[in-house]
Amino acid sequence: MQYRNYIKLFSGILLSFLISTQVFAIDLPEYTTKVGDNVYSYGNPNMGYFSMFVVTKRGVAVFETVNTQHSQSMLAAIQEITDKPIRKVFHSHNHWDHSAGGKVFQDVGAKTIAHHQAYEWMVNNPHPDMSVPSKFWKGSRKNIKMGGTKIELHYLGMNHGLGMTVFVLPKERIAYIADLVTPNRVLFTIVPDFNIKPFVTTLKKIEKLNFDNAVYSHSHASPFEPKSWVTTTHEYVADIRNAIFEEFGNGTPFGQIPTTIDLPKYNGLAMYDEWLSMNVWRIMLDDVMGPFPWTPPQKYNRKKSLHKYGHHHYH
Ligand SMILES: [Zn+2]
Ligand SMILES: [Zn+2]
Repeated sequence: MQYRNYIKLFSGILLSFLISTQVFAIDLPEYTTKVGDNVYSYGNPNMGYFSMFVVTKRGVAVFETVNTQHSQSMLAAIQEITDKPIRKVFHSHNHWDHSAGGKVFQDVGAKTIAHHQAYEWMVNNPHPDMSVPSKFWKGSRKNIKMGGTKIELHYLGMNHGLGMTVFVLPKERIAYIADLVTPNRVLFTIVPDFNIKPFVTTLKKIEKLNFDNAVYSHSHASPFEPKSWVTTTHEYVADIRNAIFEEFGNGTPFGQIPTTIDLPKYNGLAMYDEWLSMNVWRIMLDDVMGPFPWTPPQKYNRKKSLHKYGHHHYH
């Protein structure tokens, strides 16, 4: 190789080194974490809610709007990273504290999307900060392709709220999981609107999905945590249930069981002291009263429910 060619090669290497350091040196917007190739988590840890977005060749897909303030600051963060349009915005489930703020993205031309069960609830339970999704999807599985990125939508049963969807980017092996798993924290207070048995079944289904790490809507560790928290969560429920049955066997009075149970294995988790007894109450009531809430399977027929019965009820 001639001297001149060495110079060429060297400057080429130097240039690509500079370009790559340049890429790493770009400051990300506030509350934004890069979690994969073109995948980001977004959320102010003090507010307690994390969203996810992925920048594809054709535009941006967003997971979880939370509320207008969260969506507005996330939109600004996305626009600092890319000038590609925001095309699709996914809601994980119905609850107001997750599903509000959609109008922020509808106003910039994005379609907001929820599972039909969440959609029905949102239509029938308006909230000043929540807009009805632009679209709904039905069934238990759907794949969406956007600019070369595959997005899997998984509806895994009546586990928490309505229409709860777990999102997986199989190529990137990254998931977005709301409410079902809260890394480094016990279950939320009285475990509201969780249906305990399908919840456990769902966690075992999530373990089999194609991902290694997830952005979890609520995390008391980092916003991006390993799949192993899914396992920890169903083991925690099983350990509570075993402890309850042990107390039944000991003849401990019903009302004293929640404050009697101690699970040292989990005492490092956030809110252990505050919420363990509430977690026990909810799981114990499910074993005493039977599963709740529960509705018989009903074939979805929105047309019929709107035109014939006025409202759609899942009785
Ligand atoms: Zn919820
Ligand atoms: Zn939540």
